[in-house]
Amino acid sequence: MSQRKILVTSALPYANGGIHLGHIMEAIQADIWVRLQKMRGHQCIYVCADDAHGTAIMLSARSQGISPEELIDRVQREHERDYAGFRIGFDNFHSTHSAENRELAESIYLALEANGHIARRNIRQLFDPEKKLFLADRYITGTCPRCGAEEQYGDNCEVCGSTYSPAELINPKSALSGATPVEKESEHFFFTVPAFSGMLREWIDGGAVHGAVANKLEEWLGEGLQDWDISRDAPYFGFEIPGNPGKYFYVWLDAPIGYMASFLNLCRRSHDESLDFDAWWRPGGDSELYHFIGKDIVNFHTFFWPAMLASAGYRAPNAVFVHGFVTVDGTKMSKSRGTFINASTYLNHLNPEYLRYYLAAKLGPGIDDLDLNLEDFVQRVNADLVGKLVNIASRCAGFIGKNFAGVLADQLDNAALIDEIRQAAPQIAELYEQREYGKAIRLVMAFADKANQYLNERKPWEIAKADRQSPELRAICTTGINAFRLLAGYLKPVLPALAEKTEEFLAIAPLAWSDFDSLLLDHRINRFQPLMTRIEAKAVEAMVEESRQSWNGGHDTELEADGETQAGAGATEPFADEIDIAAFAKVDLRVARVIEAGLVEGADKLLRLRLDLGREADGAAIERTVFAGIRSAYSPEELDGRLVVVVANLKPRKMKFGVSEGMVLAAGPGGGDIWLLHPDSGAKPGMRIS
Ligand SMILES: [Zn+2]
Repeated sequence: MSQRKILVTSALPYANGGIHLGHIMEAIQADIWVRLQKMRGHQCIYVCADDAHGTAIMLSARSQGISPEELIDRVQREHERDYAGFRIGFDNFHSTHSAENRELAESIYLALEANGHIARRNIRQLFDPEKKLFLADRYITGTCPRCGAEEQYGDNCEVCGSTYSPAELINPKSALSGATPVEKESEHFFFTVPAFSGMLREWIDGGAVHGAVANKLEEWLGEGLQDWDISRDAPYFGFEIPGNPGKYFYVWLDAPIGYMASFLNLCRRSHDESLDFDAWWRPGGDSELYHFIGKDIVNFHTFFWPAMLASAGYRAPNAVFVHGFVTVDGTKMSKSRGTFINASTYLNHLNPEYLRYYLAAKLGPGIDDLDLNLEDFVQRVNADLVGKLVNIASRCAGFIGKNFAGVLADQLDNAALIDEIRQAAPQIAELYEQREYGKAIRLVMAFADKANQYLNERKPWEIAKADRQSPELRAICTTGINAFRLLAGYLKPVLPALAEKTEEFLAIAPLAWSDFDSLLLDHRINRFQPLMTRIEAKAVEAMVEESRQSWNGGHDTELEADGETQAGAGATEPFADEIDIAAFAKVDLRVARVIEAGLVEGADKLLRLRLDLGREADGAAIERTVFAGIRSAYSPEELDGRLVVVVANLKPRKMKFGVSEGMVLAAGPGGGDIWLLHPDSGAKPGMRIS
């Protein structure tokens, strides 16, 4: 097999918040793939960087009274520490706020401009006259122009689901200063993405993305692409656009270029001549390029990025590997429940290899969300790794150590078993290559079961009672140790620390994939040390408790570059006008059961719920359709059969998507924390709440 040259990236974490389970899952997925390639003797380079630009960083630094540079330096150190804690083996970790990234972003932009792919036109935008900056939609709140709901964001209403432009909001306010924004015109620069529709279609048809993602992209291409606004006006933390004072590159323009910049930085400080930037990034070379990303940033990586690369004369990625989100115990990670778990909090309590194993066992190549079920996590890691895998070694090592001075036999007791395990090496490598980690692990664990079953049948402990020095005993334990060596080797991409301890215990060189052709016979091994201990449920509880504590009372400083903000946190909102009890009694609150929940096309905060409200006196079922703005916290599947509280006598409202016949009540700050009726409340559909 000839040596491949492979460059791998995972998405750049935003330099304004900690590394959490979602980041770690992606990094683990990429790291396993990279370690497999390295074990197989390929040249595989894994780079990443902090995504360090944008308004959110600028504002966050201001509110902390430090410079953006100080903020991003501190955060980068924390990020690197956390990734290292999970043994993510980056070959380089850089920053988008770097000399290399400025150089590349400028040269790529100038190429786009020279090729006629930059358009300029004036746009009108709301401007904060106090803070003196243009306000992105998420920094504006006001009253919904359709339904009158207050405190809605600038682009859509969470109550009625309408979308609108920020200028349409009634009484708009800047979420930053509370000032009334004014409309102001400014020239923006656009990348003419539609010019690349044909090229992108060909690239996608060529297998660059798979399955459901490819279908979605085809759909978007069919609807037609639009020019992409790549400039932002000062003040902005980022790179100024060459020749255009006061205009900056939008953070998403230079973020993916950060992949190249990290690699360029590595090339420049490496003495390895094979690390030649142009040879890896210009078309026609023999290297491969893969990006691991989450499904929320697909359009940036599959439309804008390949189009930019094409215009600037660089190669396209071979593939973009897209994964789903992490949930904990079946729901979105939640700060109040203690399941919004930061990498550093996890590491305070638990061995990183537990999580690497558990996530890998559930990972496949698709975009399904992956659930960390904490109870299953404890049970599965203990059963598989401690109960099955490490058990093989611990059952055999003692006899070899004590009875045979640590030297393995020169032949196996069961060559057929070991042959069978060895012959699976190519299949397991292929499963890893296809990112079918769950399948690879099931195969390895099936062999671990076989090896344990073999030891159960041969009972070395009984042979030892009869004859401590029996050659048969030695050959049986040598068979067990060889099975363990192969299985720990197959799991080395997933469990690098366990593999290191195994190599030390067996007194062998670091295992490469080609080593699985050979056996370990007539060889002195070291004294057995426990390779892995069981997870204590208490440690998991302590981690959840620490997570809960760490978010308690704190305001949400994590303004994601393109995420949502929690504006106005803190003081209680003013109360509405008083009503008397008679007025309140007019509100008919009923329990309802969700019969069907579905997404609403064009409204990404809404779910369409079909509700069962019990039966009429004549036995006829009462059903209602209600639109509820709870999609940020619940997927349709989770709501199936859930009980909710409904305002049953709310006048039906005609919305853009249909008529809403009632209103579902919920509590919580929003985002992932929206609380419905407790599932075990014992309430029955139709029951009146008073
Ligand atoms: Zn509304």
